[in-house]
Parts: sequence; C-alpha cells; structure tokens
Amino acid sequence: LDTTNQEANSNNDEESDEEVVVADPDTTYVIGTDTTFAPFEFQDENGDFVGIDMDLLEAIAEDQGFNYEIRPLGFNAALQALEANQIDGMIAGMSITDERRESFDFSETYLSAGVQFAVLEDNDIESLEDLDGENVAVKTGTQGMAVAESVADEYGFSITTFEDSVNMYEDLQTGNSAAVIEDYPVMAYAAETGGIPLRFIGEQMEVADYGFAVQKDENSDLLALFDQGLNNLKDSGEYDEIIATYLG
Ligand code: GLN
Repeated sequence: LDTTNQEANSNNDEESDEEVVVADPDTTYVIGTDTTFAPFEFQDENGDFVGIDMDLLEAIAEDQGFNYEIRPLGFNAALQALEANQIDGMIAGMSITDERRESFDFSETYLSAGVQFAVLEDNDIESLEDLDGENVAVKTGTQGMAVAESVADEYGFSITTFEDSVNMYEDLQTGNSAAVIEDYPVMAYAAETGGIPLRFIGEQMEVADYGFAVQKDENSDLLALFDQGLNNLKDSGEYDEIIATYLG
C-alpha cells in the first residue's frame, strides 16, 4: 500500500472539488434576519443594521461581489420565509441542528454558542429548581424555546412565547416572567451594554455552531459565495476584527 501516493491523490481530489463560484452582478439576494439580537443584529443610532452577522455578511458580500438586501423579519418569521422560498438566505445567530438540516443547508460555522436561563439580578431565584410555579419567557422557534419545553415539566414552570427578544426581556422586567432563556452571548451583551441586570442560572446548554442558511437544495451558489467569503475573511484577519468589535 503506497500511502504517499494515496495522499497525493486525495490532495488532487480536493483541489478539483474546489470549484470557485462567481457572483452574478444582476442578482440581489434577499436575506432574512432577526429583529433585535445584539450583538448579532441590531440597529445602531442611525438606524443601520449592525452586529456580527450584519458586518460579516457585508464584508463577505463585498469580498465576493454579490448584492443583497436585509429583511429583519424576526427569527421565526425568517425561518418560515426561508422554508417557503420567499427569501434566499438567513443569518440570525442561527444554530445548526440536525432537525434544521432536514429543511436547510448551512454554511461553514462562524461562531458557536449555547443557551442559558437568566433572571433579574435582584430576584431570589438561584437554580432551575427555584423556577417551580414560575413563568419563563422564550422566543418562538428558537433553541431556547426547545430547551425550555424539554425541561418545563421537570422543573414545574410555565412558558410564554414572544416573537422577539425585546418583548421577552420586557416581560422579565415587568415581572410577568421570572426567567428568560436565550443564547448566552446575547444575554451577556444585554447585561453588559443593554442595561438589563441579568443573572445566569443553571448551565449553558445545547452548545451549537452558528451558520448562514439557505433552503435545502436551493441557492447552492449563494452558500458557496458565503463560504468562500468567510474563508477569505478568516485568512485576512477581518473575521477576527469583526468578532472583536462586539465580543472583544
Ligand atoms: N441560536 C438560537 C437558534 O438558532 C437563537 C437564534 C435567534 O434567536 N436569533 O435557535
């Protein structure tokens, strides 16, 4: 068995697989995203959409020369629009899960995060066990909602669903809900910069990779452009700069 040769062959295969996709200048891709999911997507003081997802997409589109339009539909609405082929792609701090792989194709990952429960700092809830008889606010269609549903009986809490994070946190701050569950970096950012005094309880759960999504077996060109651009940004250091801008 000639291993040297095998290696040479597999290297060759890899190279011939790497077909470079070139953007069509006449196409404008419509990309769905969440409404407010800082530090991934949110509006700055000028009303411009910024954040890790927005800045990555902008840099990737510039690198690859494709046109796009952002639709801040909300997480669940974007999922449904993508599934119905009403939008071309979606970037929204979206976790790559086996279940979602049945409906969507995902890019290479650009970050990973899990979900965690949190309460207001001055609340006396210390653990998931203390959620017995309480209400938990979740965002429709998210991993946080899935995790909350999976342990609601065990810990004896009820669930209220919201279409966006802003209303979810409002429900916490008005005291209707005792806890929220959402992606850890989003809550850490809200606690640090958003003036929401959050305290985490329990562990971070369901840590998963984030990816850009297209409908399954559709828009493979857009997916390839995204991956090509992402890899270029990782090589150039621009990817690190964007992450550091928000999580540094
Ligand atoms: N990462 C979570 C998910 O994919 C939440 C995404 C979001 O709320 N925008 O379900």
